[in-house]
Amino acid sequence: MALNIRENVPLAPLTTFEIGGPAQYIVEVKNEAEILEALAYTKEKGLKMTILAGGSNVLIPDGGMQGLVIRIGEGEHSINGVTVSAEAGCNLLGLINAAAEKDLGGWEKLAGIPGSIGGAARGNAGAFGPEIKDFVRNVRAINIVSGEARDFSNAECDFSYRHSYFKDHPEWVITGVTVELLQTDPQTSKRLAEETIAEREKRHLQNVRAAGSFFMNPTAPQNIIDMFESEKGVKARGGRVPAGWLIEKAGLKGHRVGDAIASEQHPNYIVNTGNATAHDVRNLAQVIKLDVAAQFGVELQEEAAMM
Ligand SMILES: Cc1cc2nc3c(=O)[nH]c(=O)nc-3n(C[C@H](O)[C@H](O)[C@H](O)COP(=O)(O)OP(=O)(O)OC[C@H]3O[C@@H](n4cnc5c(N)ncnc54)[C@H](O)[C@@H]3O)c2cc1C
Repeated sequence: MALNIRENVPLAPLTTFEIGGPAQYIVEVKNEAEILEALAYTKEKGLKMTILAGGSNVLIPDGGMQGLVIRIGEGEHSINGVTVSAEAGCNLLGLINAAAEKDLGGWEKLAGIPGSIGGAARGNAGAFGPEIKDFVRNVRAINIVSGEARDFSNAECDFSYRHSYFKDHPEWVITGVTVELLQTDPQTSKRLAEETIAEREKRHLQNVRAAGSFFMNPTAPQNIIDMFESEKGVKARGGRVPAGWLIEKAGLKGHRVGDAIASEQHPNYIVNTGNATAHDVRNLAQVIKLDVAAQFGVELQEEAAMM
């Protein structure tokens, strides 16, 4: 395939935040062969490269991205027994629906998480309890330095809360993901997915110009965990308290910098209410981090990729 490299292409429309400047160069790829070709091009030209997929968990700088942005778009998938093997750019919800048609499910609580299955595996995306790690059989990836292609078993992916091996090792680009599902009937699976999406809409988690939860839920000292548990009447999961709860307690719900706001409905969403810049978002994030650290002694870390 001849790569269609375009120059000076706006990236904001390719992200859910709708923020950021242009890519110096961009190429759309769909499968491993095309990703390899794009990587070879960056090597040949000595260009920096950045991977972008669904664009639902990134903040692009106002000045844009230098080098080549390799955008992994919708790919192909195949279904074999109880497994679904998908190219990295396949849309997660599209796969949940396609699997349901073939009587496979179990992962409907992930319905409505925007973006690709590759992006989901990299960040171990999850919602309402389940995470993608609960379904992954293996992840295929290529090493941009050595060119090696490898299948990683679930254990080798080193998944944990919003973490995988690939997050710590950006030299590996995910090209495909195989998940193992349960036998179900299409009606049940479809209904569960629809209920999940309805619940997300009710909680204002959908269709917002944001990158999802901006910060990861942090581990917290015992006094903060006790405060959370007695206030909310629920157990803190894995020693973590919700970042949104801390942001609200710090008095920052609805706090605004420029057109970036800590959402009134879900304070851990930083929302672009108009023409927010990456600068606005970063400044608001900094205010939140400093205030939460000062008031609760807890360090927040970005979940969204600060490109
Ligand atoms: C409204 C909204 C709701 C959301 N709700 C949730 C939720 O409930 N749970 C949740 O976990 N997340 C949620 N998110 C965040 C986001 O949808 C997930 O993180 C998603 O998995 C990101 O996938 P993506 O394809 O959009 O990745 P992108 O945003 O394109 O990329 C994110 C990062 O992953 C890297 N990356 C992407 N693809 C690959 C690849 N193939 N190989 C290597 N690196 C790669 C990119 O370089 C970047 O660093 C939400 C986001 C929005 C906007």
